Amino acid sequence: MTTDAIIPAGLAAAQAAYAELQGQKLKLNMQRGQPSDADFDLSNGLLTALGETDTHQDGLDLRNYPGGVHGLPSARALFAAYLDLKAENVLVWNNSSLELQGLLLSFALLHGVRGSTGGWVKLLDSQKPKMIVTLPGYDRHFLLLETLGFELLTVAMQPDGPDVDAIARIAGRDASVKGVLFVPTYSNPGGESISAAKAARLAGIKAAAADFTIFADDAYRVHHLSDTDQDAPVNFVTLCRDAGFPDRAFVFASTSKVTFASGGLGFVGSSEDNIAWATKYLNAQSIGPNKLEQARHVRFLAQYEGGLEGLMRDHARLIAPKFQAVYTTLAQELGESGEYATWTTPKGGYFISLDTTEPVAARVVQLADMAGVSLTPAGATYPGGKDPTGRNIRLAPTRPPEAEVFAAMKAVATCIRLATEEYRAGRTA
Ligand code: PMP
Repeated sequence: MTTDAIIPAGLAAAQAAYAELQGQKLKLNMQRGQPSDADFDLSNGLLTALGETDTHQDGLDLRNYPGGVHGLPSARALFAAYLDLKAENVLVWNNSSLELQGLLLSFALLHGVRGSTGGWVKLLDSQKPKMIVTLPGYDRHFLLLETLGFELLTVAMQPDGPDVDAIARIAGRDASVKGVLFVPTYSNPGGESISAAKAARLAGIKAAAADFTIFADDAYRVHHLSDTDQDAPVNFVTLCRDAGFPDRAFVFASTSKVTFASGGLGFVGSSEDNIAWATKYLNAQSIGPNKLEQARHVRFLAQYEGGLEGLMRDHARLIAPKFQAVYTTLAQELGESGEYATWTTPKGGYFISLDTTEPVAARVVQLADMAGVSLTPAGATYPGGKDPTGRNIRLAPTRPPEAEVFAAMKAVATCIRLATEEYRAGRTA
């Protein structure tokens, strides 16, 4: 009997398709959740939004140290509208909302938030402070929290947002659980958005810790893929206030995927008392953020046709076809029965989460790499880079041109088929 004779037909076909794929010598990247050059080009006007004579804004001299750490008044007003808050509830910082999250979490660790009896690092019995995160989730949240010394507790991200029952259970029994950090709108990686009902429940949960805090990283709050079919963002600051916990929520966002990824503005919304709390500590380490950049954003976004919403519509025109390319190609190549994989179909954001039916994510990423297609490392969506299910892969379609997304997804489907057939043949051998 030849070796060929004992290879199941499905596996042989998948191997042949993969050999053909390798022959194509592709060089494609679906790993980076970055805007495309065409997205960046929409904001090139930012580079010249301030001319030589534009030295002042809001009555302040931008060249000096104007106006303290809260941010430029007009920038606070702009991003207050973005977060559905008042300007007094917003602090506009420098380019990275992740940095702002790190700063505020560090202040909480050292000093506690309002309502704390002390810094979160000083818990009794040398317990580590604990933070709840959602799975699958954003690797940089895990990295940030673990680097700061938090122990991570995990709950599932469901189609309508985090498993709030699980959060209530975990937070209800342990005062060292200090909060939850997650993405409320078009989450990374699955694109799920929290429903209004769940958000209201989360805002009012009974936590053992009086200073239990919701850290909502609303990075994709306005990143819809269509003008009409959108998830509605929620407002945790007002929801928490209405639930009787006025200082419970911090909401972060930035223009990293609105204007320029490294040249945008990060900002945070919260109660006025919490803004004063953050300001106290930021003021000790900075005379203030870069107001020239803030003025540039205010002017550029005011000049853009349709303002910030107009810019986001133009991004959607570039990005939506790429998401569609992923959905169409996966459905064509793998079918929609779940035989090989299932995937999310978000209405916004930057990512799609794919689960292989068999635990073969690492093998898929390896096969794709050997065929010239770079994917987010398997496991990246779980703390420590270890996915206990072995199934999750994050797909990032925004950066490559649409034709490359089609080609990459066809290749990924071929790799999923081969990895699945290998796994099933191994199981039955
Ligand atoms: N939060 C989430 C959920 C993200 O996906 C990203 C970017 N990938 C960031 C924060 C980073 O934002 P920033 O550039 O404002 O630090």
